[in-house]
Amino acid sequence: MKAALIGVGQAGGKVTEALLAEDRRAGYDAVRGTLAVNTARTDLDGLDIDTMLVGQERVKGHGVGADNELGAEVMNDDVREVMGALDGVVDPHTEAIFVVAGLGGGTGSGGAPVLVKELQRVYEMPVYALGILPGRDEGGIYQANAGRSLKTLVREADSTLLVDNDAWRSTGESVTEAFDAINERIAKRVGILLAAGENIEGVGESVVDSSEVINTLQSGDMSAIGFASAEAAADAGENINVVTSTTRKALLSGMSVPETTEAGAALVVAAGENDRIPRKGVEKARSWVEEETRSMQVRGGDFPLTSDSIAVLVLLSGIARSQRLQDFMDRAKEASKEVEAEQEQQTFQNDELDDLI
Ligand code: GDP
Repeated sequence: MKAALIGVGQAGGKVTEALLAEDRRAGYDAVRGTLAVNTARTDLDGLDIDTMLVGQERVKGHGVGADNELGAEVMNDDVREVMGALDGVVDPHTEAIFVVAGLGGGTGSGGAPVLVKELQRVYEMPVYALGILPGRDEGGIYQANAGRSLKTLVREADSTLLVDNDAWRSTGESVTEAFDAINERIAKRVGILLAAGENIEGVGESVVDSSEVINTLQSGDMSAIGFASAEAAADAGENINVVTSTTRKALLSGMSVPETTEAGAALVVAAGENDRIPRKGVEKARSWVEEETRSMQVRGGDFPLTSDSIAVLVLLSGIARSQRLQDFMDRAKEASKEVEAEQEQQTFQNDELDDLI
């Protein structure tokens, strides 16, 4: 699908940059416009895409820290300027807009929902969020911020595609060390999702269309993607098990929100050379996903790519019952209570101090 990507905050900008780089590297040309918006000048300086600094009056280019309320206020103040900067980023051919953000920080966490709301008001095409959830070991404020941000995003966006920062990091790496690697994995996987329907070589009946991606995303508030790949034989007939076992791997151990197997709707995309992808394998994989996710709405198709391997991408939508998401929500709720208690304590101490002075 022809997509416009708007990154908000540090993670948002970096992931948007990685998505554009992957789209160009692979020659998909699905990413038609990008913009990175931030309150911190230094975070924008290193990016290789168009950027826009917001909140100059209030924070003077120094960022909002982890204050997502301030992040939301700043975006609210400057949202007209941001919309004004979208000429050439969003155009009449754009099929979907993605607002990309880390949900645990300040600028992206607070700013992304405000921007999504305004985009929905102004544009007719679907507006999705690509939201990064903090890893389990990140501090309470990140969990609390992400919980609040996710609630608002779910309300405003047509669907929120989630990536848990613990999902695609290699063991042993700290989250920070792993950011670049995680961003590349996000770019590769989401890159295929965006490119589905854009690839012109070998277009046939079984090729996935942008509308199938959009229809799957539209069926749920929250979504996740899974990915796995394996070597394939030159003859499609020998690859039936390759497709089915790779699909199992994508769903059972490759999801962007782990432990997510129930969904309202799903899409299974087999990416590889046309001659190597077995129709029967894709159909078997699709039925297996139907059973496993207990969804009646599972679409399936191919994505032609020049490669010796076959990769399977599984998009799940309507994943609210995911155990991992429920755990995250519990963690966020608990962290919110703690943050509020700390703030109350702080106010109490400040009042006492005021009384003394
Ligand atoms: P903001 O600039 O105030 O929006 O804050 P950040 O974008 O730094 O958001 C913080 C959250 O995003 C935390 O949960 C971080 O773990 C995560 N994060 C920050 N940078 C990256 C990145 O480059 N990649 C990924 N995957 N996550 C990031």
